[in-house]
Amino acid sequence: MTAGESGSLRRSGTDSGSAVAELRDVEFGYAATPVLEDVSLRIDSGEYAAIVGPNGSGKSTLMKLMLGLLRPDTGEVQLFGEPAHSFDDGSRIGYVAQHASASKEMPITVREVVKMGRFPHVGFRRLSDGDWAIVDEALETVGMSAFADRRVTQLSGGQRQRAFIARALAGEADLLVLDEPTVGVDAESVDAFYELLEALNDDGITVVLIEHDLTAVTDHAERVICLNRKIYFDGETEEFVAGDALARAFGTAASPAGDSG
Ligand code: ADP
Repeated sequence: MTAGESGSLRRSGTDSGSAVAELRDVEFGYAATPVLEDVSLRIDSGEYAAIVGPNGSGKSTLMKLMLGLLRPDTGEVQLFGEPAHSFDDGSRIGYVAQHASASKEMPITVREVVKMGRFPHVGFRRLSDGDWAIVDEALETVGMSAFADRRVTQLSGGQRQRAFIARALAGEADLLVLDEPTVGVDAESVDAFYELLEALNDDGITVVLIEHDLTAVTDHAERVICLNRKIYFDGETEEFVAGDALARAFGTAASPAGDSG
């Protein structure tokens, strides 16, 4: 684990405590199916927040709204103080998708994946020595230097997630957004993965993740947002553990069992 040791992660710079993402009175549905109602929340710079809720409760949808990939039917969504749908500085956000499965992706190497993080910064020029140094540092931070020349299709799930996080770091992301990042990752690697996220958060990166593993959430996240169409809880993790929001949210599941969302 080398995260946090370098102490020199580069980011575009967000003042601690300023709004990174904000949703106000958001409602959203796919066609006739209402998915989110009355959702307001604000993620501030430096936070480490987990979104939990039953399958089909709207977690991925909330994340897509937050990233401007979907537009709300009513209400407003902002990213770094701008309307999320027109926010165009993608390098500030590192998105690690669910099962970042690489099986259908091109057989490129880990270093090439991480190098892509530099593209928004270099435009049409070639990568400079400085850019490559940033790529190498990102690989080292996530503990993947030894795998730099391996094809991503030949990595374990946990290693692949690290490669995608390194890409975000190389892009100098301020915000890391992860959708169930540890599905299919073995238990030991899950712990190491969460330690990495914690170290990155200590370095000032805002972390928002969807996680079905409630133990991982309560062990690591500082804030829990518990969702089932509406927000059942939004606050400190200890308060969430002590309260009954989880039971209420899961007890009134929006969709029948078996809906995998
Ligand atoms: P979660 O991430 O909590 O499992 P989702 O946000 O993926 O929940 O889904 C919320 C609801 O919206 C579910 O009922 C799901 O079936 C439905 N849904 C998700 N994506 C789409 C889509 N692209 N088109 C239609 N319905 C969708």
